[in-house]
Amino acid sequence: MNYSKLSSATIQGIEAMKIDVEVDFDNRSVFNDIDVVGLGDTAVKESRKRVKSAILNSGFSLPHGKFVVNLAPGDVRKEGSMLDLPIALCILASTGIVKVNEDTLAVGELSLSGEVKRVSGILPVLLSLSEHFNGMVIIPKDNEEEAKCVKGLHVYAVRTLRECVEFLRGDISLKNIEYSGIRAIDPIQNIDFSDVRNHEMVKRAVEIAVAGFHNILMIGNPGSGKTMIAKRIPTIFPPMTEEEIIETSKVYSAAGYPGIIRNRPFRSPHHTASTVSIIGGGTSPKPGEISLAHNGVLFLDELPEFKRDVLEALRQPLEEHRVTVSRAKFTVTYPARFMLVGAMNPCPCGNLGDEKQPCVCSPRDILRYKKKISGPLLDRIDVVVNVPKLSFEEMMKKAEGEKSSRIRGRVIKARNIQRKRFKETDISFNSQMTHKMLRKYVQLDAESEEFLKRYVDRYGLSGRRIDKILKLSRTIADLENSEKIELKHLAEALQYRFRED
Ligand SMILES: [Zn+2]
Repeated sequence: MNYSKLSSATIQGIEAMKIDVEVDFDNRSVFNDIDVVGLGDTAVKESRKRVKSAILNSGFSLPHGKFVVNLAPGDVRKEGSMLDLPIALCILASTGIVKVNEDTLAVGELSLSGEVKRVSGILPVLLSLSEHFNGMVIIPKDNEEEAKCVKGLHVYAVRTLRECVEFLRGDISLKNIEYSGIRAIDPIQNIDFSDVRNHEMVKRAVEIAVAGFHNILMIGNPGSGKTMIAKRIPTIFPPMTEEEIIETSKVYSAAGYPGIIRNRPFRSPHHTASTVSIIGGGTSPKPGEISLAHNGVLFLDELPEFKRDVLEALRQPLEEHRVTVSRAKFTVTYPARFMLVGAMNPCPCGNLGDEKQPCVCSPRDILRYKKKISGPLLDRIDVVVNVPKLSFEEMMKKAEGEKSSRIRGRVIKARNIQRKRFKETDISFNSQMTHKMLRKYVQLDAESEEFLKRYVDRYGLSGRRIDKILKLSRTIADLENSEKIELKHLAEALQYRFRED
């Protein structure tokens, strides 16, 4: 037996591709070596060292000669360390230690001692296989959770190379992993909006933002409660759907986080974070924070302190709900449909408007600080709200706030109205309406039409700003189950604007 072949897979972005691993063993060669051919990244090239040690440390011996490992198709870039296990199995098969064929598919990283280690991207791999692969799939034991939510495959999990070989030889038996279903769990249990006392206007703004999937910016002094409020925003989203759970879990799997994401993600990267860590990419591309926030919330505290490049790079994903990372030889796309929640101080020192602490900033400093949030980014934020600092008495006097579950109930109703409205279109939320759609779906009554006209004349608003106001008015009216947009809806929408002066 000199030749062997088995199946494996690699991922690109969050999509998987089946590949073939072939080994040809030449026992006439004087070189005792393993050679890997077929476009692999650094991790793949390094795999021959791991594979050799793992085989020897698992108690198998390698005869003298040369092993040529071919990864096909040759023009597909193979990524990461998930090919260690299939390469090792194929090498052992070429010397007759175990039998494999293309109906066996294996993925897994090997340690030098022969353990099978967890790898990134198992969920995308299994999901794509479930559509057409009828053979046996072998994965690392530590990736078992991901396998439980994929239907229609025969998956076995192994801890070591030795165990895997014994299983394939029929010396031991393993139970195949059973499908256990996907189910959302209750939105985040231990935090709730009822913890937030007062701040009624801010909570109202947040409810509107979540209802229409609008991005929101909170402006307030340090200690006013912006972060506390932001953390509770996912608790008023509807529970994740099965489809959303799978989509988001695929991103986490590709990023190397095991398990299934059943709660809406809340990501809050620090303002010093690099563009790659926020947007995604790198030499071995990984999803960034905006994709880890997919179907959830991306919270950027101290928004003006983020690097200019980062803020610039947010524009495209905020518009397209996905991000494309290009490298010289390949391009990967990650989903990135998140609600942006920004927070900032009113001025560089943070104290502007605080009655107890004096602000030390000059008007120029304040202006420059506000200008750091560029127009194009602000264009994608529909709701801007001030978070006032409450006195100790104010914080203590009121009973606890409304529960997240009640707010969520209203959000769900407003979202159902939108779902019906946009049934025939490719959007789901008011915030996603194009200029053309606004004319169709947003009708002002005569009184509010006249009011808006006067307002626009007085403040000289741009077309984009007017569109934002109309989208927001639509959501406010939906929360009241009102088909018509009345003056009170419009007037409320006008409150949530950014004051640049
Ligand atoms: Zn200041």
